[in-house]
Amino acid sequence: MNQIPGTKPLILIVDDSPTIRLSLSRALQDEFMPVEAVDGEQAWEFLNSDSRIEVVITDLSMPKLDGLGLVKRMRDSVVTRVCNMPVIMVTGDDDTAAREAAFKAGVNDFVAKTSDRVELLARLRAHRKLAVTLRELEESQRELREQANTDPLTRLANRRFFTQIANKELSLMRRQKEHYAVLMLDIDHFKNTNDSFGHPAGDHVLKQVARVLSENIREEDTVARVGGEEFVVSSPYTNRLAAIVLAERLRKAVEALDIQYEGNSIPVTISIGIAMQPQDGDTLDALLAAADERLYTAKNAGRNRFCAASKHQTEQTVDADKVCPKLDEAITMIKHGNLQRLMPHMPKLLEELIPLFELANEESPVQIDVDEVRGAIIALKAKGGN
Ligand code: GH3
Ligand code: MG
Ligand code: MG
Repeated sequence: MNQIPGTKPLILIVDDSPTIRLSLSRALQDEFMPVEAVDGEQAWEFLNSDSRIEVVITDLSMPKLDGLGLVKRMRDSVVTRVCNMPVIMVTGDDDTAAREAAFKAGVNDFVAKTSDRVELLARLRAHRKLAVTLRELEESQRELREQANTDPLTRLANRRFFTQIANKELSLMRRQKEHYAVLMLDIDHFKNTNDSFGHPAGDHVLKQVARVLSENIREEDTVARVGGEEFVVSSPYTNRLAAIVLAERLRKAVEALDIQYEGNSIPVTISIGIAMQPQDGDTLDALLAAADERLYTAKNAGRNRFCAASKHQTEQTVDADKVCPKLDEAITMIKHGNLQRLMPHMPKLLEELIPLFELANEESPVQIDVDEVRGAIIALKAKGGN
């Protein structure tokens, strides 16, 4: 908690005796802002409702909830601030058993009822300082951890963090015998973007692409920036059909970006390679290698597309550029009741969809009989479609 300059840290004084509360308040008010509670229950309420409270000084025996009960509750709290807050207990000088019990419960220190103002303030100051230092240390550790896992330009996960997460997910998917997909994405002709619009414009494009990728994956997917203009997505519980749908969604979303930078409109597209566990391997390295090979295939096939299968498999690339706009048009026509107008174009459309069906069939629970589709195309053609 960073203290606002000029304000005093809040101290919660818990005691059922109004006289003691008053004398403690008076003794501490030069350095602390006192808040008073009449018993443990009320103190608990204040602690959970006022996040400015930094230190507690409490009596041992009180009605409702006593000092020990209060400390135990605080140490069990799920709220880190309350759990770690320094608590000082006021006890009689000769009460060794009470001190022992209080230490066990998690009290940080004791002050004797007879101790003077100077001693009290010195102890409170020391405990508060220690708590503040610990909090700052934790905060900087958290920041360091985050920095170590994050790509500074895009705020996405970096390769190191991605490898950690992906390896864990992959081993879980292997054990559960579930499908798992890795997508490797690379911005097309990004060198041209830098050359034409400048490096800062390129950085702006990278940030926009990173944002759109994170917005278009599921909660359980992870996207990371693993190279200059290279990204990867780790997608658990994802079979090839779902991976294809995801890849196409990402491709489209990037293509649809309207990036403006210093008066220039910058077009951007990505190519994607997809690899699957178990079909393409069961280690992250094997999957990344397969995805990389397919990314290369997608690049060679004309970019702005994905590739989900290797040369020896069914179909190399699906030219989503060609198929998907047509599919979108067809769906729009059906939605508007124009099925009749669509019918003559059905055979062509279905023919183009066959590669997708074949890929999808590998794992999809909904099996499409590709031969039946071919038969239907022939029948439709015979009826006069093209
Ligand atoms: P391809 O379609 O084959 O992927 O072509 P490409 O031009 O995208 O690929 P290439 O690997 O030849 O170029 C990648 C470029 O990305 C070159 C490099 O200057 C640029 N780049 C890498 N990191 C950054 C970065 O952090 N910021 C910017 N602005 N550019 C970067
Ligand atoms: Mg590139
Ligand atoms: Mg590249």
